Amino acid sequence: MPKRVYFFGGGKAEGQGTQKELLGGKGAGLAEMTSIGLPVPAGFTITIDSCAEYYASGKRYPKDLDKEVRANIARLEKTTGKKLGDPSDPLLVSVRSGAAKSMPGMMETILNLGLNDVAVEGMAKKFNDARFAYDSYRRFIQMYSTTAMGLSKEPMEEMLHELKHKLHIKDDAEIPAPELKTLCQKFKAFYREKRGEDFPQDPIVQLWGAISAVFNCWEADKAITYRRVEKIEYLKGTAVNIQQMVFGNKNDRSGTGVCFTRDPNTGENVFYGDWLINAQGEDVVAGIRTPMRLSELAGKYPAANKQLYKAREILEQHYKDMQDLEFTVEDEKLYMLQCRTGKRSPAATFHIAAEMVKQRLITKEQAISRIAPEDIERLFYPVIDAKVSKNELAQKKLTTGINAVPGAASGEVVFNAADAEALSKLPMYTPQEVEKIAAERGLNADQKELLAAERKPVILVRKETSPEDVGGMHAAQGILTQTGGKTSHAAVVARGWGKCCIVGCETLNIDYAKQEFSVGSTVVKKGDYLTLDGSEGIVYQGKMDLVKPEMPEAYYTILKFCDEIRTMKVRTNADTPYDAENAIKMGAEGIGLCRTEHMFFDSEERILAIREMIVADNIDSRKKALAKLLPIQREDFYGIFKAMRGYPVTIRLVDPPLHEFVPHDEAGQKKLAETIGLSFEKVAHRVEQLHESNPMLGHRGCRLCITYPEILEMQVRAIMEAAVKCVKEGIKVEPEIMHPLVLDLREFSILEEHTRKVANEVMAAAGVKLKYLVGTMIEVPRAALLADEIAKRAEFFSFGTNDLTQMTMALSRDDAGRFLPDYVDQKKAAIFKEDPFQSLDQAGVGKLMKIGIAGGRATRPGLKIGICGEHGGEAKSVKFCHTLGLNYVSCSPYRVPIARLAAAQAVVEGKAALKSDKGAKAKAAPKAKASAPKARKASKPAPKKLGKIKVKAKARAGR
Ligand code: PEP
Ligand code: MG
Repeated sequence: MPKRVYFFGGGKAEGQGTQKELLGGKGAGLAEMTSIGLPVPAGFTITIDSCAEYYASGKRYPKDLDKEVRANIARLEKTTGKKLGDPSDPLLVSVRSGAAKSMPGMMETILNLGLNDVAVEGMAKKFNDARFAYDSYRRFIQMYSTTAMGLSKEPMEEMLHELKHKLHIKDDAEIPAPELKTLCQKFKAFYREKRGEDFPQDPIVQLWGAISAVFNCWEADKAITYRRVEKIEYLKGTAVNIQQMVFGNKNDRSGTGVCFTRDPNTGENVFYGDWLINAQGEDVVAGIRTPMRLSELAGKYPAANKQLYKAREILEQHYKDMQDLEFTVEDEKLYMLQCRTGKRSPAATFHIAAEMVKQRLITKEQAISRIAPEDIERLFYPVIDAKVSKNELAQKKLTTGINAVPGAASGEVVFNAADAEALSKLPMYTPQEVEKIAAERGLNADQKELLAAERKPVILVRKETSPEDVGGMHAAQGILTQTGGKTSHAAVVARGWGKCCIVGCETLNIDYAKQEFSVGSTVVKKGDYLTLDGSEGIVYQGKMDLVKPEMPEAYYTILKFCDEIRTMKVRTNADTPYDAENAIKMGAEGIGLCRTEHMFFDSEERILAIREMIVADNIDSRKKALAKLLPIQREDFYGIFKAMRGYPVTIRLVDPPLHEFVPHDEAGQKKLAETIGLSFEKVAHRVEQLHESNPMLGHRGCRLCITYPEILEMQVRAIMEAAVKCVKEGIKVEPEIMHPLVLDLREFSILEEHTRKVANEVMAAAGVKLKYLVGTMIEVPRAALLADEIAKRAEFFSFGTNDLTQMTMALSRDDAGRFLPDYVDQKKAAIFKEDPFQSLDQAGVGKLMKIGIAGGRATRPGLKIGICGEHGGEAKSVKFCHTLGLNYVSCSPYRVPIARLAAAQAVVEGKAALKSDKGAKAKAAPKAKASAPKARKASKPAPKKLGKIKVKAKARAGR
């Protein structure tokens, strides 16, 4: 029979702080605080497993739970010297829920349980305070009726409110005893009317009513919704904590408070919290009275204040983390009622972790482990101002899509790229408005100038985006598309700029002709305001205030720790000198992917040149067009090399299907025909010719250079001429020329030979010799399978996991967003745990990667291997890449810090796993100790792990 109830009290506890999964956060905290000698009222915890059993058996209590509860009541009565239901000095208890993960406000609490018509009189006499006794009773009736018995809260609140109004008083504590007594009678009458029975007088009946209320709240709508929104999965239920009451509402020498051991907003090492005199726990949280600051406690109850500061110190030292505490003061004596790891803002997360390392409370490795990737994201991107109420958010919520790029954006809706660009150039305010706002806000001249320079924020809404839209996408604050997944064009491009983006919003019904979209019966027209929350994938109607969090100093400290610890490099995917500069600031150590085709959309001149090249129907005119592109590309590569300050730069030759570059509408084709001096018919015919039914599996990637070697020639020449120029100017360069979509050695060899021929020609002509590499992307499953062959010629591999996922799973990266949510929904098909375009499919795609790595390195030991698909910036995938032994991950500039963090966490987790593995082995084979030398030799870490240990030593020295 499992133990279902754990007692705590009198300085001893049956449970421990580590047993959150069994006792819930609250129960584990109470047990731990009791054990370490803090003043905790005695009580007991019914386990989470009991709640799970209750549900498993159709809401029936587990066998013998009743017996265990009775035994623990007896023990509690003995410890406290009071008896439940005693008519002269009753033991009163609180009954609270507590799951393994904190769910603030979602679960239930009942206070003062044990009071009845007789006990309340006994309590009044015992304390010589009828007001206090009846205040406790009315609170109990209220909480029990609403929480345990499901009566509506409002009627009783209304009765209380009316009474105070009639008596002309504001504060609950001012209501005289006789009035409180009458109020209790009214409450009970209301209970009788609604329930058809008297308010229960037997404390045991009350107790079981409260226990089932707590169990039942686990499946209440609000708790289910909370768990869904917060992605809290796999929890079994809630524990029930039954604890002797202490009374913050006893008199003016009593009170109650909620506090954090450090400021949860900034992380500053100051005691932070609120408290109320003469009040009970829920009053502070409920916000019915304005609480006092914690600093005011010292003046009021110096002794309790001293005890509280001591408790703060003990608990921080004990848990080595910021704690969220609940306390009550009764007759100036302190009691601790709760202790759990405190929730905090992203900025505070960094501040606290860095400061605790400084205080030597935790190690750098522990500090790194406490940061979540989302904490970093939330530091960079604007977010909806926390002042926007939950109510407003709920009212304005229009629909949801796939959260492709985090952050928030608010702006006017437009439906095409040209409008986005045009609108974003218009001033946000008229000169008159600037004057008015400046006067209202008391702005100085500089601030006024900034205000006048503000442009209209734009939200670009498209069915999908294509390379032609990039200008408008860049101009927009946020991007919303009806189709697409996390690696669709919109998502990839927006991510590169750190621009809020929601894709795959299938409920949108877009009508380009009318310049509007609808969601159900709601119509949003061009010029209407929308707010996007890209972190959650939620679309709101109307304008909302956004805030851009400031970068705390501690962010840099923590990322420095990460760089000291990690062994895998972090590069970036960047296509322009500007992005490259930005990525360096984010900590990138090279470029892992420069998508050269993105460079063609930077200006009208470039678009025309590439289009001319594509529509050319003979080699001469193609070469003529390519000649126009050569200096443009050379200049870009030169800028990127310079920005990268000698770090390696992987440049990928042109990749997407050519038809993506040409205009598909008549007007666009006419314009192109006119500019390049061809007939409209010829241009239209060529566009028609380029059309493919399945372009993702079509004439793209290196296949273009197999058909049109002159493209390769121009691009390699541009790369090498830029590199030669750098060398001549004394700038260090490390070009890596990469061929996309390669599928075997034969194909790669043709490209490699041609690449080397051009590169050698350029170097010979310039009289400069420089080291460059020629390698391949591994993004076709066949290439992964034949990697041992390909590595005979390829000097490096880079996993293009966007295409590798698409082709391994036969899932279109552009269209799968339509049904992938069903695959990922854990309540529906639950085929995947996560979107495989976001988080690497380790089982399938990962297996191909393993084959590719093993094959490649079998042929060419030490082969440099990286990843440049979107997974290179997703924490879990980065950790997986570390375990595969990749040299680097490459991701968009804004995700570089996340990759740095995840790469460091991978090292820390690897060490922990190794340690626990060793521990488990030692436990499993205790006798092996006798043959220690041999056993030790066998479990010596592999060379790679030795490397990691060395890093730790270095990190220690650096501290
Ligand atoms: C990939 O396929 O993973 C990749 C990086 O290339 P692209 O996204 O440009 O197809
Ligand atoms: Mg690809």
